[in-house]
Amino acid sequence: MDNQTIMQFFEWYLPAPFPLWEMAYNEAPTLKNIGITALWLPPAYKGNGGKNDTGYGVYDLYDLGEFNQKGSVQTKYGTKDEYLAAIKMLHKYGIKVYADIVLNHKFGADETEEVLATQESFANRNNSIEITNNIIPILAWTKYTFPGRGDKYSSFKWNWTHFHGVDWDDRNKINSIYKFYGKRWDEDVDKENGNYDYLMGADIDLNNIDVVNELTAWGKWYTSFADIDGYRLDAIKHIRSSFYLEWLRKMREASNKPLFAVGEYWNSNVDILKKYLEEVQWSMSLFDAPLHYNFYEASISGGNYDMSKILNGTLVKEEPNKAVTFVDNHDTEPGQSLFSWVQDWFKPLAYSIILLREQGTPCVFYGDYYGIPSEKISAKADILNKLLHLRKNYAYGIQNDYFDNNSIIGWTREGDIGHEKSGIAVLLSDFEPGEKQMYIGKHFSGKSFYDFMGNREETVIIDENGNGVFFVNGGSVSVWVCDD
Ligand code: CA
Repeated sequence: MDNQTIMQFFEWYLPAPFPLWEMAYNEAPTLKNIGITALWLPPAYKGNGGKNDTGYGVYDLYDLGEFNQKGSVQTKYGTKDEYLAAIKMLHKYGIKVYADIVLNHKFGADETEEVLATQESFANRNNSIEITNNIIPILAWTKYTFPGRGDKYSSFKWNWTHFHGVDWDDRNKINSIYKFYGKRWDEDVDKENGNYDYLMGADIDLNNIDVVNELTAWGKWYTSFADIDGYRLDAIKHIRSSFYLEWLRKMREASNKPLFAVGEYWNSNVDILKKYLEEVQWSMSLFDAPLHYNFYEASISGGNYDMSKILNGTLVKEEPNKAVTFVDNHDTEPGQSLFSWVQDWFKPLAYSIILLREQGTPCVFYGDYYGIPSEKISAKADILNKLLHLRKNYAYGIQNDYFDNNSIIGWTREGDIGHEKSGIAVLLSDFEPGEKQMYIGKHFSGKSFYDFMGNREETVIIDENGNGVFFVNGGSVSVWVCDD
């Protein structure tokens, strides 16, 4: 089987509106050609910001750019018909589509209603005992009636009973956390801030059976209506883990596809990620946030990072079959909530680690491939095309690791019979230039290798024992392949 590669097909600062569905439609042949096998598309449903909404401020899950709501028919990325056409075209080129699923919160209710609530601090929400005299009536934005859509696809209307709480009292115009009377934050969520069930907007009560039924019905409708192949699950550390275990089981039961799923559990502690995987019974993969932070640290360490430890404490090392590896994403971009942008010079090194090793399913970021004009970040398509080409055609077979030096590390892949040209030797350095002898297999004895990245001029001849001495520049990566 060929190597699988996901691309995250958007970045935060795309101008609004942006014809992303049209772009995906047009790019399908190119994406197929460079080796992309699945595309993660941003939330496709109407957000509170209408065509200005990146997609995470969900207003109506059933409005894929079909109804005149929030100021426009289209979403930021286009209309329902453009979305469906893009998916059809991607499928034609064998590219799977992973949909972004945002079920933690909603924004932009149609009406307010009076609700009794207790006020809590943002910093400590530890299921504290409610004190009777602290219950206050607030005006909450929690009535979702969808006048622009009516009852098409679903007649479900949301009210306060379907939420845990909000962060705005419209009567007194006060921003705080308001937990609705009689509600409890779920226990099986992240423990940051005491209890991190509440993230933003109107927090959906995923214990309410009507809500669970509605979101299950919606998931089945959406998966089938748009012909989705898998999911990227948003903000799962704010959602009880048992919810997605059940939801994914129901989606897979209803579908004839395996429905790949990757969750966004944003935590740099691999033990917390492993605990979550256990809680959801390995029903999904997780993004490898710890690996991203290792890349980030290495990139800002000016050559002083211990590269032999670059994989330490990462999901790809500890749970390789459940790790979706990435270098950056829309949240780590400059100016975003999780800002930790991997520096430019380190990008080729980081991408060689996620694209050319055996473990993990890599996800290439749109902002790296196409650039981020608003932040003056240049496109790295040239380098990424080389690494993607190597991944697609060369990075196969047994892996031999040489993580034995604090600057220069490397590995080889011995190649396999299914891929004619396969077999690579990767050497990278975060500081000084150098060389390393590595074993690539006796079947290459006498053959000559060259640096596909074009950074080094040498020809390396593999000796009778299957070893070669490979070279790398400082702060660089070289990938050696056989020249016949
Ligand atoms: Ca929540």
